[in-house]
Amino acid sequence: MFSYQPPLKDIRFVLSDLLDAPGALSQLPPFAEVDDELTMQVAEEAGRFASEVLFPLNAVGDREGCRYENGEVKTPPGFADAYRQFQEAGWPALACDPDFGGQGLPSTLNSMLYEMLSSSNHAWTMYPGLLHGAYACLHKHAAEELKQRYLPRIVSGEWLATMCLTESHAGSDLGLLRTRAVPRDDGTVRITGSKIFISGGEQDMTENIVHLVLARLPDAPAGSKGISLFLVPKYLPDGDALGRRNAVTCTGIEHKMGIHGSATSSLQFDEAVGWLVGEPNRGLAAMFVMMNAARLAVGIQGLGSAETAYQNSLAYAQERLQMRAAVRPAQRRGEPADPIIMHPAMQRLLMNQRAYVEGFRMLAYHSALALDAAEHHPDERMRADMDAQLALLTPIIKSMMTDQGFYGSSQALQVYGGHGFITETGIEQYLRDSRIAMIYEGTNEIQAVDLLLRKILADGGKRLEQLLAQIDATIAQENTGPMRDQAGTLAALAQDIRLRVQRIALAAPSNPELPHQIAPEMLRLVGHCVIAWLWLRAAAVAREKASQDPVFYQAKQDTAKYYYDFILPEAMQQLQIVDNTLRSAEKGEPLRLLSDVMRQYAESKA
Ligand SMILES: Cc1cc2nc3c(=O)[nH]c(=O)nc-3n(C[C@H](O)[C@H](O)[C@H](O)COP(=O)(O)OP(=O)(O)OC[C@H]3O[C@@H](n4cnc5c(N)ncnc54)[C@H](O)[C@@H]3O)c2cc1C
Repeated sequence: MFSYQPPLKDIRFVLSDLLDAPGALSQLPPFAEVDDELTMQVAEEAGRFASEVLFPLNAVGDREGCRYENGEVKTPPGFADAYRQFQEAGWPALACDPDFGGQGLPSTLNSMLYEMLSSSNHAWTMYPGLLHGAYACLHKHAAEELKQRYLPRIVSGEWLATMCLTESHAGSDLGLLRTRAVPRDDGTVRITGSKIFISGGEQDMTENIVHLVLARLPDAPAGSKGISLFLVPKYLPDGDALGRRNAVTCTGIEHKMGIHGSATSSLQFDEAVGWLVGEPNRGLAAMFVMMNAARLAVGIQGLGSAETAYQNSLAYAQERLQMRAAVRPAQRRGEPADPIIMHPAMQRLLMNQRAYVEGFRMLAYHSALALDAAEHHPDERMRADMDAQLALLTPIIKSMMTDQGFYGSSQALQVYGGHGFITETGIEQYLRDSRIAMIYEGTNEIQAVDLLLRKILADGGKRLEQLLAQIDATIAQENTGPMRDQAGTLAALAQDIRLRVQRIALAAPSNPELPHQIAPEMLRLVGHCVIAWLWLRAAAVAREKASQDPVFYQAKQDTAKYYYDFILPEAMQQLQIVDNTLRSAEKGEPLRLLSDVMRQYAESKA
């Protein structure tokens, strides 16, 4: 039967053994009290809520979906009640400022919570999923009066929030958006325009909804430099009362491939009352606080899907009997067939999933710790360094982890054979639900361009070099031990990346298409380098601790080796593609993609 077990043992390995998260967090003044016990207590409670309350609603949500009627949305049976329990247990406030009613715990614990929620029920998790990003954005950019009025209600989860960016003609390119904001003398604005694809734009879980809306002020410059951010509530609070209805209406919800329980709403704003957040025309910068938190959260959605898919395919492979294995233990010789887990082809599918899931968990919590340090470390330089590293890692997390949510679910489905294709089995829902994470919050193509052009080339590779220097330090420690071959492979990869970045930087000015052509490969190259680094560290820690739990720590070391032997070679292919493209560009014969179509296109427009 399809199920979800919170992976508490692996979470403890990553947080305590590998990253010493409680130790690192207790160095940050607001988290001096955080220790191992508190961390695992939160993990256990979060795991219980996810597996006992949310997971049972996952298939129901898929089957029943959301219903739209006369501007209102009914979420699937059980969704609103689960949200009530989530709110009453204080989960929304976990990592928020105590000045606004928060519990003041680290974002790292919030990431752990969201991994388990996403594993259990992606669609449901979309509703509170934007809450923390909205909180962080308002906390940083809103005027004091707005903060006092809205933050306590967002922190307590009494009101949920949305992120209203997309319009029918403006998706990846927000510079095209047309929604207008007209200022009034009383300090408010009137918002007019249509937004589409707004997750949780309408729902029946909270009585009020706080929309964060991107729009243009009169006379704003064209493009992305003329976008401002506004807070637009569904109801206009009047003191403690809910107040009157604002002029924002849900005009429909989408029928879609997956996450049927999440209301993907079209919203119409007809002179709706709103307030500016941050500075005029600097809306994208303000929204980026929310988008970065959301990108980390979306990456974690990918991890969550991949974990559940792996767990279930592993269980199925131990039960399903088909064909005789090439090598059979003596006690099975009389049996007509063996469990499919005995076939190396199935072991490969399972090990691929495992090496990615466990590797991405290390990357997710490494980055969550960096986020906490970037916000709270007492040393300003340390905060800046952590911020720089996060800027580099965010597109990798968003892109590679969501790819794995989908491809890992597909590998899991393969383990089930034809039974995986049948709805009742449960895995096909994960394949459908996980697909969207590769698209929203900036498509994975946009993430790759962001990484190479804005995060690597824009600062002359400085941020990247800081990260590679950290990786070099681990290599120096490991290059004489039992993982010395792997350390050598990693050292070569780090050097390969440095050289390619230099060549791209030299070639790009005369060939501006070049970095765009190889951005996806460069993203995976840097991503693999980081995950291989974390696996090298994990193997070292597992060796040290081996006597405490030999089976668990041996499996860690084996998985580290598997990553290097079977997954990391993908980097060779990516290097080859980068080299082929670079060589053509350097010879003055740049790669021509779809040359016939592009020629016709240019001629038709001439
Ligand atoms: C279920 C769901 C929930 C969503 N939730 C929200 C939400 O809550 N709030 C919100 O504002 N939006 C939301 N969205 C919208 C989502 O963020 C957009 O769909 C996404 O940003 C892509 O925009 P688009 O669909 O218009 O695709 P387009 O921008 O038209 O892109 C089409 C293709 O072109 C590629 N492309 C475009 N430009 C480039 C480039 N420069 N380089 C390389 N490739 C490029 C893209 O990668 C993509 O493959 C949601 C969408 C869905 C389906």
